[in-house]
Amino acid sequence: MLDYVELEADLGQEERMVRDTAREFVEEHVKPDIGGHFEAGTFPKELIPEMGELGFYAPNLDGYGLPNLSETAYGLLMQELEACDSGLRSMASVQGALVMYPIHAYGSEEQKDEWLPDLGEGKAVGCFGLTEPEHGSNPSRMETYAEKEGDEYVLNGSKTWITNSPIADVAVVWARDRSDDDTPVRGFLVETERDGVTTNKIDEKLSLRASITGEIGLQNVTIPEENVLPGVSGMKGPLSCLTQARYGIAWGAIGAARDCFETARQYATDREQFGGPIARFQLQQDKLAEMATQITTSQLLAHRLADLKERGDLRPQHVSMAKRNNVRMARDQARVAREMLGGNGITTDYSPMRHMANMETVYTYEGTHDIHTLVLGQDLTGIAAFE
Ligand code: FAD
Repeated sequence: MLDYVELEADLGQEERMVRDTAREFVEEHVKPDIGGHFEAGTFPKELIPEMGELGFYAPNLDGYGLPNLSETAYGLLMQELEACDSGLRSMASVQGALVMYPIHAYGSEEQKDEWLPDLGEGKAVGCFGLTEPEHGSNPSRMETYAEKEGDEYVLNGSKTWITNSPIADVAVVWARDRSDDDTPVRGFLVETERDGVTTNKIDEKLSLRASITGEIGLQNVTIPEENVLPGVSGMKGPLSCLTQARYGIAWGAIGAARDCFETARQYATDREQFGGPIARFQLQQDKLAEMATQITTSQLLAHRLADLKERGDLRPQHVSMAKRNNVRMARDQARVAREMLGGNGITTDYSPMRHMANMETVYTYEGTHDIHTLVLGQDLTGIAAFE
């Protein structure tokens, strides 16, 4: 596996173990069927508890049976999962960073006890409802709202593009709380079996096909007051979760690119044209050299982010830079790898075109490439260019 500047040498024992466990799991249990799942537009749901048993959900959190691994170990895990498929990494990202993290950071003790062990073990599935049909890049304009009636809240609105909503037991729904004059955004734990909740599946995807995506409809959904996340109010709530998930994406995208590189390198060595392997042509070597360089520089950025996160110095803007750079890198390099595979490259027999299609989602979700550009622009100039 590509590790051109020997980053492995600095990994601790636990980090190597996590990486190897994930790599082995993916090789044995997911890779053989992932092309089929992508074609069929299905997610291997039977793996959800298995991934839980292996500790793949929020392993960088502590308590409630969670292993409290290093941020590097967590990143390496995301890298290995996405080397298989972005859908697999999305499962772990949503469950861990977007559902367990807010409960862990902002939930009551009762909420933590009720949900964290089951979510961690994959006995329950969660989803994160922020995006709405009319509000994607600017979720602060969300229209979903909650109104207090006695000791209950009544929720109305709709969310879309929600990973795992059709199979989720619980949704972390971000909505405006109209019982407060400032109508702050708050997090609500909504069990999907409640009356008035619908979770229609979105079927027409040409990207991230091995992942289940849906809507969340909320029509006069009543939840007890105890289901509100008490520890946060305002956009800081959802945005802080996104920073966690984007950190994992910055690592994960490298995995997809690495898998494209390894596939292309192998193919170029095996495939013969004009009397020998295509790897002997300078044009092909240029592609491999560029791919390896881009992957390596993205790895360095990810490792640096892990150090900053570990010592508490990671800013959301650092994560924006890494998500923006590493996903663009993976998107570009997947296309180059696909190209090197010729006609075979357009099939699901090989991974690059699947990764390439997946990267269109990864480039768009968790803040589009453009939005992260504006985040950096604001950080570098002090001027916000969003509106
Ligand atoms: P828009 O915001 O309408 O953007 C359209 C285009 O305009 C983009 O190119 C964008 O970059 C550009 N643009 C917008 N504003 C500006 C600006 N100010 N300056 C310059 N350009 C701009 N959301 C969830 O809440 N939970 C999930 O689990 C989830 N999973 C997803 C899974 C998939 C497969 C996909 C595709 C999306 C998922 N999303 C999820 C939603 C995702 O986060 C949004 O699609 C994303 O934030 C972009 O919003 P949008 O699609 O409405 O695009």
